Amino acid sequence: MIRIYFDPGKLTDDVADWWRAWQKKTSKGRDEVIQAWVTARSKARQWHGSDKDAPPEIPKPKVDAEIYRAFKRKILEELFHGKCGYCESFMGQKEDRVMIPDTEHFRPVRLVTVVNNGKTETIHVVYEDGVNREHPGYFWLAYDWQNLVPACDGCNKSPAKANHFPVGGDHVFLRQANQRPGVDRGFDCIDGYYLPDIEELNHLEEPLLLNPFTDDPEEHLTFSEFGIIESKGGSEKGQTTIHYLNLERLTERRKRIQFDFAYRYRSNFTNFHREEEQSIEEAHGSVVEKLSCDLEKAEYRAAILGYLDELYKGFRISDRFHEIWNKAQNARS
Ligand SMILES: [Zn+2]
Repeated sequence: MIRIYFDPGKLTDDVADWWRAWQKKTSKGRDEVIQAWVTARSKARQWHGSDKDAPPEIPKPKVDAEIYRAFKRKILEELFHGKCGYCESFMGQKEDRVMIPDTEHFRPVRLVTVVNNGKTETIHVVYEDGVNREHPGYFWLAYDWQNLVPACDGCNKSPAKANHFPVGGDHVFLRQANQRPGVDRGFDCIDGYYLPDIEELNHLEEPLLLNPFTDDPEEHLTFSEFGIIESKGGSEKGQTTIHYLNLERLTERRKRIQFDFAYRYRSNFTNFHREEEQSIEEAHGSVVEKLSCDLEKAEYRAAILGYLDELYKGFRISDRFHEIWNKAQNARS
């Protein structure tokens, strides 16, 4: 997994226009989804049956997949170079462009589950009437770009991530209005309650899965020789991400790609160092510059960087690549 830096405020020209139009659609879509839930909830509250704990079921809010798929086609495919946002597997090509088959909701929008002692458990939360019910999913984040991660089937589908969302704190749903951190934060919901935004949720819940938009995976995961992935310094977030997304399934593939890329790196290095008589420092700089574009688009970039750092200790290989990519990104924005 690689940190993806995306700042919509830095978009320019037609992409910036596209973004503004898309934002309008997403806020309208979000308002509609929230309203649909509020209406269903209010019908359920008006129910006068004999068993007050079993009112009519609240239907799941309908999410318009076309809205977030537009974001996938316009932004995500280029930003992630057609790779899965979690495992960095390449996901295919159509005509002249890379294609991501699916977009995953980082926080699930229809149901929330975790795995406990090998069993899937559905998360329950206390509603505004004090009754404990199923968490309906974070439906108000269905179109929030930080909640949209391109994902391959191996990471996205059951038994991998699916609707799982493990947290270090407690799962959050409705919050009382007097807990609201600011008038412009969160989203209005039923009287006296609001739905928190991603930033507040991250603070309250402490997610145990890594999100490439908001986390720096290098702080939680390490990759070494033979494609091996481990949590860094015993990071719980790293360990939980490896476990839930079953990232060890790709060890063999990562190993092959690591070796292939390291071979290319070494032959280029030999060329710059021996043939062109550059110093060791200079030769590393030249190779990094030459291969930076290829590596940015390569599968398992994080694993390759980890392996190169191990092979050439003390030469800051991954830092050098990151410097070039950051410079290119700043130039683009
Ligand atoms: Zn994946």
